[in-house]
Amino acid sequence: MVLDTLTKALASGSVRVVDLTHTLDPDFPVIVLPAEFGQCARFRMDEVSAYDHRGPAWKWHNISMSEHTGTHFDAPIHWVTGRDVPNGATDAIDPVAFVGPVCVIDCSAGAAADEDFTLEPTHIEEWEARHGPIPAGAWVLMRTDWSHRQGAEYLNLRKDGAHSPGPSPAAVRALLDRGIIGFGSECVGTDAGQAAHFDPPYPAHAMLHGAGKYGLQCLRNLDALPPTGAVLICPPLKIRGGTGSPLRVLALVEASA
Ligand code: MN
Repeated sequence: MVLDTLTKALASGSVRVVDLTHTLDPDFPVIVLPAEFGQCARFRMDEVSAYDHRGPAWKWHNISMSEHTGTHFDAPIHWVTGRDVPNGATDAIDPVAFVGPVCVIDCSAGAAADEDFTLEPTHIEEWEARHGPIPAGAWVLMRTDWSHRQGAEYLNLRKDGAHSPGPSPAAVRALLDRGIIGFGSECVGTDAGQAAHFDPPYPAHAMLHGAGKYGLQCLRNLDALPPTGAVLICPPLKIRGGTGSPLRVLALVEASA
């Protein structure tokens, strides 16, 4: 009965499908690490045939990219803290994790004022005072409107590294205390650009993945979601031993929300 109600609501438009995904494109920025480290590959597409002598009735492409290119999912084994998490690779995660309630914390004003804005426990508590407790099993997305940036402004690299918003270690601790299943960001990573200097470094990666939780990054259209009440759908590709995967991220949103 629940699913019958849902499919009727989708057909009538009272439940909308919102696309939270950037288009896979060779020009879309990927994370840049210090030069001594291995680097993330951009999206690449090569034409195999296009209704021509290579295949007269069909068109198709070979594609390649990093597991961490474009709008993508981070699995626990992506980080050293999560290397021994059971079922921590993309092919082994229980798919129930890929569909769930989503809470959106609007940090857009803070991120507009401060490119190094950090989400703190006080922001989470203020959000809960207005919208109720973050439920166990929820996805929590940090809205910054960072997805409106393009080109070099998206990575926002300077001599001292990237400058972009993300959660503080205390905020990640607070989200873990609430039993979230994952955390998502509009930026190129779940961590702030300057998170190498946090204690611990890269708290979203280190703490979330160490606890068997998941990450989403390069999200967009978070401004089209209500603070609470939407359903997130985010299944990564079933890559054997995969540390992450580009994916299509969707949200089901009630039109009245
Ligand atoms: Mn990643």
